[in-house]
Amino acid sequence: MVKAEGVHKSFGAAHILRGIDLEVAPQEVFCLVGPSGSGKSTFLRCINHLEKINAGRLSVDGHLVGYRQKGDKLYELKDSEVAAQRRDIGMVFQRFNLFPHMTALANVMEAPIQVKGETKAVARARAERLLDRVGLSDKAGNYPSQLSGGQQQRVAIARALAMEPKLMLFDEPTSALDPELVGEVLDVMRGLAEEGMTMIVVTHEMGFAREVGDSLVFMDGGVVVEFGNPRDVLTNPQHDRTKAFLSKVL
Ligand code: ATP
Ligand code: MG
Repeated sequence: MVKAEGVHKSFGAAHILRGIDLEVAPQEVFCLVGPSGSGKSTFLRCINHLEKINAGRLSVDGHLVGYRQKGDKLYELKDSEVAAQRRDIGMVFQRFNLFPHMTALANVMEAPIQVKGETKAVARARAERLLDRVGLSDKAGNYPSQLSGGQQQRVAIARALAMEPKLMLFDEPTSALDPELVGEVLDVMRGLAEEGMTMIVVTHEMGFAREVGDSLVFMDGGVVVEFGNPRDVLTNPQHDRTKAFLSKVL
């Protein structure tokens, strides 16, 4: 579903991603861990067209992100083609980023109406279903300020799912939450995984990685240091940098 081959990304003179190689299979829960500044968010942002890579190849569902290849040449996609690629990818951030002036229900209805031109009735029916799925049927009429952090994050997940994405990207979805609210968000993510959603999850929740993850990558300094089954990497890390990191977070 996602394939990165020698992906590089710099911001000016700062060389952040230094040749990322990885592959995420359909329906896989792929966990990405690593110290602050190692490039985890940057990598997710490249997948979702929020940043452009400088070298290498990055593809989602068999299509190069942002480019079309003809022979040996790459051509940049038009804005409308980029928008079409982005539609298939849902992203959930550390900060919930809900529209503050809209109810939970309206937040979930918004993108299908604006981006896909869906009717309100169709968008509403799906939004109600999704709020039910994240356990928030009774909060549909609440504004974000009337919801807890965990509830806001569950609305944010429902909002991303409303576009019926093929791939979900989670960037530390629980790290801004009070500890007692983390579980309810992880439960929703676990449910999604069980239903077969392909997910890339940047997280420090090693319990989640171990129980739900199919693969785990430890990234440091813009490269993949270690990769494997989460249980193996977490219990028997091979590299000193992985060991040092895990000793701090486990
Ligand atoms: P964290 O765990 O703290 O979220 P991260 O692994 O997600 O860290 P990134 O946010 O990808 O790290 O950042 C990697 C490096 O890239 C950092 O040094 C950051 O300052 C730099 N960086 C990220 N975005 C930009 C930008 N738009 N312009 C300049 N530098 C940037
Ligand atoms: Mg980050």
